[in-house]
Amino acid sequence: MLAVGMIRGKPGVHAFELPMPEIKQPDDVLVRVKEVSPDGTDFNILRYGLQDIADGRNEIALGHEMLGIVGEVGSGVKSLVPSDAVTMTVRRGCGQCYPCLHNQSDMCMTGLFTERGIHKLDGFLTQFVVDQEQYIIKVPPHLVKLAVLTEPLSIVEKGIEQIRTIQSRFPWSCAHPEHSFLSENWGGCKAALVVGAGPLGLLATALLRLAAVNTFTSDLVSEDSPKARLAKQMGASYINNRNVKPKELVEHYCAAGNLDIIFEASGAADTAIELINCMRRSSIYVMTGIPRGDLIMQVDAAQLVRQLVRQNQVLVGSVNSNRGHFEMALRDMEKIDSRFNGVLKEMLTNRYRLEEYQKAFEPRGPKHIKTVIEVEA
Ligand SMILES: [Zn+2]
Ligand SMILES: [Zn+2]
Repeated sequence: MLAVGMIRGKPGVHAFELPMPEIKQPDDVLVRVKEVSPDGTDFNILRYGLQDIADGRNEIALGHEMLGIVGEVGSGVKSLVPSDAVTMTVRRGCGQCYPCLHNQSDMCMTGLFTERGIHKLDGFLTQFVVDQEQYIIKVPPHLVKLAVLTEPLSIVEKGIEQIRTIQSRFPWSCAHPEHSFLSENWGGCKAALVVGAGPLGLLATALLRLAAVNTFTSDLVSEDSPKARLAKQMGASYINNRNVKPKELVEHYCAAGNLDIIFEASGAADTAIELINCMRRSSIYVMTGIPRGDLIMQVDAAQLVRQLVRQNQVLVGSVNSNRGHFEMALRDMEKIDSRFNGVLKEMLTNRYRLEEYQKAFEPRGPKHIKTVIEVEA
C-alpha cells in the first residue's frame, strides 16, 4: 500500500510502499485512513531533517492527526464495528512505568514510549493502519467533517486541564464561588493571553472562550488575516505583536496586565521566556509550543527566580495527550462549532489529495491555517 513520509538519509517528503497491515491479535482493529492533517511538528520534522526512524527500518510514514473508517475488527473488539468513523491517539506507552500502565502514557516517566508518525512508529499517512482498540476512539457521525482536529484539540484539552488542576491549589479570589478552577463555569472573572494563533492557539482560544475567559490572542499576522478573524469570531481580542515587545503586549493590551493565564502555543523561545516577566501573583503559564534549533539569550535570572518564588507562580510544560483528552475534545468540538459559528470548519483552509503530498508540505502563506490531506477520496 502507498505511504508518505521520510526515507533515511534523504531530505524532504517522499512516497513509498509499505506492506499491508494485518489483524494479528483479538483486540486489533484495521482502519482505512480517510484524512490526515499535517501540523507544526510535521513541518518542523521536515524543515530540520529530524528523522526519528526505528532501527532496522529505512522509512517512516508521517502524520498523527487523522480520521479513518473501521474496516475490520479482531474477535475480541467490543466498542467498534466495521464502518464506524474513528480517530486514533499518537503515543504508545513504554509498558513499564505506572502512568503508561494506567492509560496516561502522555505522562510517561521513562521516555521509552514511541509515537505514531513522530518517534519510531509509522504515522497515518498511509492507506491502512492496524492498532489496538484501546488507542482508537469512535467519532459521532455529525463530527466526521471536523474529527481530524480531535488530536490538536486534545493537546489543548490537556493544557487547560493542567491549568485547572494546578490552580485549584488556592481558593479563587473573586466573589463568585462558581468561578473556582474546578467548577463548570470556571472561566468567569479571569483573563488569559494566548501566544500564537496557529491551530493550537486558535483551539486554546476556543476552549478558553467556551469557558468565558476574557481572552487575548496574539500572533504576527495582520488584523484582517483569517487567523485574527477567527480569534475575534470566538470573542477574543486579537493583538498583532509584530512590533510590540512582550511586556508592552501584556501591560498595554491585555486586561491592563492582569493576566491569570498565559497559554504559549507559538514555539517562539524568546517570547516564551520574556513573557515569564508578565505573570501576575499566583498566575499560571502553560507552554505547549516546541522551539527547534538553538537560541541563546540573556535573562536576569535572579529577577526571574525571585518573581516565581515570591509570587507563587507556576510555569508548566504540557505535551501529548491521552484517550481521556481525545474524548473531552470530541465532546467540546460540538459545543465550539455551534457556539462560534462554524469556526472549526473555517480552520481547515487547504485540502489536497494524497498524490499532491509534495504540495501539501510546501511552505504556506499568511492565509493558511490548517491543511487536510485526503488519503481516501
Ligand atoms: Zn512510560
Ligand atoms: Zn467571579
